[in-house]
Amino acid sequence: MERFEYAHPSTKQEVLRLLGSNWNDAAVLAGGTDLLSLMKEYVVTPKRVVNIKSVAGLNGIHSAAEGVTIGALVTMEELLEDKTIRAEYPALTHAAQGITSPQIRAMGTVGGDLCQRPRCWYFRNGYGLLAKDESGKSLVPEGENRYHAILGNTGPAYFVNPSSLAPALIALDAKLLLVGAKGQRELSAADFFVIPKTDNQRENVLQPNEVLSNIVIPASSRGLRSATYEVRHKTALDWPLAAAAVAVKLDGGKVTAAKIVLGHVAPIPWQAHDAAKELTGQPINESVAAKVGEAAVRGARPLSQNGYKVKLATVAVKRALLAAAKGEA
Ligand SMILES: Cc1cc2nc3c(=O)[nH]c(=O)nc-3n(C[C@H](O)[C@H](O)[C@H](O)COP(=O)(O)OP(=O)(O)OC[C@H]3O[C@@H](n4cnc5c(N)ncnc54)[C@H](O)[C@@H]3O)c2cc1C
Repeated sequence: MERFEYAHPSTKQEVLRLLGSNWNDAAVLAGGTDLLSLMKEYVVTPKRVVNIKSVAGLNGIHSAAEGVTIGALVTMEELLEDKTIRAEYPALTHAAQGITSPQIRAMGTVGGDLCQRPRCWYFRNGYGLLAKDESGKSLVPEGENRYHAILGNTGPAYFVNPSSLAPALIALDAKLLLVGAKGQRELSAADFFVIPKTDNQRENVLQPNEVLSNIVIPASSRGLRSATYEVRHKTALDWPLAAAAVAVKLDGGKVTAAKIVLGHVAPIPWQAHDAAKELTGQPINESVAAKVGEAAVRGARPLSQNGYKVKLATVAVKRALLAAAKGEA
């Protein structure tokens, strides 16, 4: 690990003063479960580490008329224990339930989960987010690509977004509040994530001098039936291979509005807009859910080793829809 200066501020203003205009100037430290491994592997080498754990205004889950506000520093454990989230936004609880490691649940934060860097092994081994060789060509299409993207992978990015919580938050129409030197900006969780096109871009719109402060799930998502279903290789210390979060509005047994978001299959949480349209106006049963699952992966372009993810994502959508219809919490 490179030497770094350590700061432990207690206000957002101090944090913003300590962050720099370049990623290399400083890094935000929350639970540290991702940042520290990135630093130990020299993937990131910030000159200053800014611990935000004592900063006021980033904690707690607060329910109000306009919705539920989740502080960026809320841990996975706190999220899982929250009865309001479980009752009103089950897709988010399901997503967090998949992260079974007690250590990650105790230390990992919601904000850190959304901002964690991709697990692409080329990125983690120093080849950059776009995993390029010396000639500037991506190593992924002809390389070890079994955990890479099957959607949104026309290049140059092939990694998958690693966050389990992001698809559920997008399905539930959540907003993210980012605080920076110029004040606060609010954007939809969907707009937070981007597919980088150049070496200078990152996988989200966060700026080096900004902090994710809170996540707001609007009251309008309260009455939705929602669920997340994920498939993973092993339950502990791993990331899903594919996941689907769904949120639907039912009226008279038929879907009147739907959001379907796939996780771990594209560089961003992947919104299956056409599949959601196909679902609208229909009841949710085995055959409809299976067809909508197939529609969700239409257009997938598997790489040489990851064709299996197409089937996993299809099944994840089907099972998430059936769970949402049953109202499983
Ligand atoms: C073995 C293992 C298995 C895992 N399995 C899963 C899984 O199945 N699903 C899943 O979703 N995740 C999984 N994770 C990832 C884990 O959830 C994240 O590491 C954790 O949530 C990150 O939170 P943190 O508070 O520790 O973040 P940190 O490690 O402190 O930070 C992570 C990144 O986010 C930035 N950051 C953190 N908070 C903020 C903020 N508020 N504003 C701006 N930037 C911020 C940091 O600068 C850093 O770049 C796993 C991790 C491990 C080690």
